Parts: sequence; structure tokens; C-alpha cells
Amino acid sequence: MKTDVVVIGGGLTGTACAWFLAREGAEVTLLEASDLNTQASGTNAGSIHLQIPHPEFVNLGADWARAYAPSLRLLRASLDMWQALPDELGEDLDVKLAGGLVVATTDAQMRQIEQKSLIERSVGVETDILGRDDLRRIAPYLAPNAIGAGYCAQEGKANPLRATPALARAARAAGAVIRTHSPVTGLQARDGGYTVMTPDGPIHARRVVNAAGARAADIAAMLGLSVDLQGFALQVTVTQAMTPFIPHLVYSAAGKLSVKQAGNGTCLIGGGWAARSRADGSLCVNPANLSGNLATAARVIPALAGVQTVRTWTAVVNGTSDWRPIIGEAPGHRGFFLALFPWMGFTAGPMTARLVADMVLGRPPRLSLEGISALSDG
Ligand SMILES: Cc1cc2nc3c(=O)[nH]c(=O)nc-3n(C[C@H](O)[C@H](O)[C@H](O)COP(=O)(O)OP(=O)(O)OC[C@H]3O[C@@H](n4cnc5c(N)ncnc54)[C@H](O)[C@@H]3O)c2cc1C
Repeated sequence: MKTDVVVIGGGLTGTACAWFLAREGAEVTLLEASDLNTQASGTNAGSIHLQIPHPEFVNLGADWARAYAPSLRLLRASLDMWQALPDELGEDLDVKLAGGLVVATTDAQMRQIEQKSLIERSVGVETDILGRDDLRRIAPYLAPNAIGAGYCAQEGKANPLRATPALARAARAAGAVIRTHSPVTGLQARDGGYTVMTPDGPIHARRVVNAAGARAADIAAMLGLSVDLQGFALQVTVTQAMTPFIPHLVYSAAGKLSVKQAGNGTCLIGGGWAARSRADGSLCVNPANLSGNLATAARVIPALAGVQTVRTWTAVVNGTSDWRPIIGEAPGHRGFFLALFPWMGFTAGPMTARLVADMVLGRPPRLSLEGISALSDG
């Protein structure tokens, strides 16, 4: 079989990329090893992020934050896309951007938030510094010991169970072929393109997009290409439904936390707490991290202390050690494109896919990747 473009991976990035390509007339086949949306894109916490993550700012430092900050431009452009997607797709994706708060309880944490906001401002992202009274006015549900917060008005949430299936429907409607249970088992450069091996036989494509998430390094290795990206096991907890009382995406300046209340009233509690990997590679909940995560949440939002949790699940995120995205044509592998935004690829997925589609179609990406993609470092 022959096609113009093969997209590997049926998560948000791959389905969005297939849609953008197909609606501009490219002949696209998307190959997904399992079912669509079964990995990170369908199992994440649904936060739409923009701020530099506070725990990493504290742990990795200001120099790291300055090197990472250009990526906020991509996140902000993706946020604009999230706002437009429901209308474009004609589907409700539960997109609500009511703002994100990094909540501080000490003066030292407030200083860190202020330092971080200066770096964010240097790339055009405004984070307001709220004092105790302003914070209490907009977020009365926070613990009384909250003394202030960094507030980024554009942050929020969307529904991971809805986004990728909607993008896949749009891709199919635009003419993309989507094959599930079709793992890519090999990849060879041939005749100015690539032969993509699958259990149903080889497919020859002029161009290939690697949107395989946490397994993207395995795909790249099929061409002898080393990509510094790994999978990291995380866990997220969902509570019983409650009357809506948390409009914001809430983080803590004291440690890892993200809390948001979904449209159905349940609260999603996460923020990057690790799950446990068994020797056979399967995942299970790490009980110590579960109790640490819930305790952190209850310290910031006391009403969560008495709430029933319904489920904690585990999933693997695509991560890079420096948090830099890897987006673009792989050096020395003409026609082979990497579409990899680590850690926050749900937020970044639409724009990552858009930029890669631009390049596959032979255009410069509509947002310069200089200083953003690790590939732009040369
Ligand atoms: C628990 C958790 C919470 C998270 N929370 C957030 C959040 O709140 N906000 C945020 O922005 N980000 C969050 N993330 C990160 C985000 O979910 C991911 O970065 C993003 O979904 C990656 O999307 P993707 O399409 O690139 O990859 P994926 O969704 O992982 O899709 C890749 C696909 O490639 C397929 N594949 C792999 N190998 C092959 C092969 N050989 N052949 C064919 N197909 C293959 C996989 O089966 C998979 O379906 C979270 C991640 C996790 C795990």
C-alpha cells in the first residue's frame, strides 16, 4: 500500500495532525497500536496550562525557567486553538478557561511566584500577583492560611475523554484513514520516503509523523535516531461529584498539586505524583503518593478533606528531562517529523499538531520554533 503521509499514534497530537493534513488535501493514514485515546491523551488530568510549572521552577531553578519560557508561546497559541476547537469541530469539549492559581502560604513562596512571573512576562505571558484579600474574593474556597497567589487568567480545563475522539471524527470526515490495532513494528528509509511495517503489511509513505507519545523514542530508534524522551508513570484521583465551588485550576506553591472541578462536579486531583511500576512493566497506584497528593489538596482546599474519592488511575506521560518539546523534521531524516510536547502535551497538542502539519505540507511553521523545540538548538 502507498500513501502520502503516515501519522503514527492515535492520541490528541496524532489525530489533530491527521485532521489538519487531510483537510488540506493530503492523503493520510493514521496508525494506532491500540484503540484511539487510550494512552496519555485520554487518561490525563485535563488541565490547560500556561504558567511555568512552580515545582520545576523551585527545583530546577531560574536558568532552567528562562530556557523553557519560549515554550509558553506555543502553549498560549494552543490555548487559543482550544477556545476555537469546539466551534470548529461542532462538539462540546468542556473547555473552560477560568484561570489558574498558584497558591502561596509563606512570604518565601510569594517571592518565588513573583520571580517566576517576571520570566513569564519576558515572553509575553502575564501572571497577576494577588494578595490575600484579592485572592479570598475570587477563591473563597481556599484555606485561610493562603496569603496570595500567582494568577494566570487564561488557564483552565478541557475534557480528555472528548477531545481526541472528536478530532478523530473530524480527521475521518476530512478523508484521513485511521487504522486501530495497527502497531508500527518497523521503519525503513526507502525511495525518498519510508516503508512503515505493520502486522497487515508494509505501507510506503513519502512522509511520516511520529506522534507516538511516550513510545516515540522506540519509533525513532527504528531509524537509528536517538530521541531523549521517556515514559513516566503518574497517577490521578477523581472524587465524588459536588456542587460546583472551584472554578479555577488550582496549584500549590508548597509542592506538586493540580486540582480542578469538572463540569459534572467531580474534582480531579493530581499534579505529577508518580505511580508505581511493577517489575513486569505494569502500573499500580503508589499508596504513599496517593495520600501525599490528597493531603496536599486538602491543605489548600479544606473542603476536599471530607470528600469521597471514587477512583485513582495510573498512566504514562511522555517526558523529557529539560521539559523542552521536540518538534520538527528530524535532522538527517528528511520527511520524518517529530511531534512531541512533553508533560503538558494535552494543552500543547493542538498547536504541536498544527505546526507539524505546516512543515509536512512544506510550509514554515506558523509559530517559529526557535528556542522552543530542542531540534532548533542545532
Ligand atoms: C496521568 C497524566 C496526567 C496528565 N495531565 C495533563 C494535564 O492535566 N494537562 C496537560 O496538558 N497534559 C497532561 N498530561 C500529559 C498529556 O496527557 C500528554 O503529554 C499528551 O496527551 C500526549 O499526547 P500524544 O498524542 O502526543 O501521545 P499519546 O496520547 O500517548 O498518544 C500516543 C499514541 O501512540 C500510540 N503508539 C505508541 N507506539 C505505537 C506504535 N508502535 N505504533 C502505533 N501507535 C503507537 C499509543 O498507543 C498512543 O495511543 C498528563 C499525562 C498523564 C499520563
